[in-house]
Formats: sequence, C-alpha cells, structure tokens
Amino acid sequence: MRYKHHISTTTAEMVENTTYSIETPKCFHCGDSGAVEVPMAGFLRRQMGALIQDAYPELSIALREQLVTGTHPECWNEVFGN
Ligand SMILES: [Zn+2]
Repeated sequence: MRYKHHISTTTAEMVENTTYSIETPKCFHCGDSGAVEVPMAGFLRRQMGALIQDAYPELSIALREQLVTGTHPECWNEVFGN
C-alpha cells in the first residue's frame, strides 16, 4: 500500500512538472499553424471539459487566443495593435 501511494504521488508530480505542446490551427493572418506549450495538468483539465480560462489560468490571454483560433500573439498585435 505504501509503495502504491508513493507511485501515485510521483505521477502527480510528473503531471505537475510536465508541459504539453498543443498544435494550434492555421493563423488567419500569416497562414502558419503553431504550437502553445501548456502545463499537462491544465491539458488534462481541458480534456475533461474545463473552460479554457479555468484549465490554463497561468496562460496569457494572447496564448489562450492562439489555442482557440490559431492567431499568433504577434500577428494579433499586428492586426489589432496593442
Ligand atoms: Zn500568425
């Protein structure tokens, strides 16, 4: 039992310290797709149906925008300014 507990703790820590690179759709401005690095824990929350702002509270709004629409933060700035 103790050993089992140890394993699950390690797994939780692994999830906590791992990031996942999500491929994003093609950007409407430059036409390139991209990727956003997110914490694995947030990725799992998102998979379970969490809202994007609840899954990735630490991500900037610009990066959340890229996850949803594919628009790169720098392209967003070019089109709409700061
Ligand atoms: Zn772009």
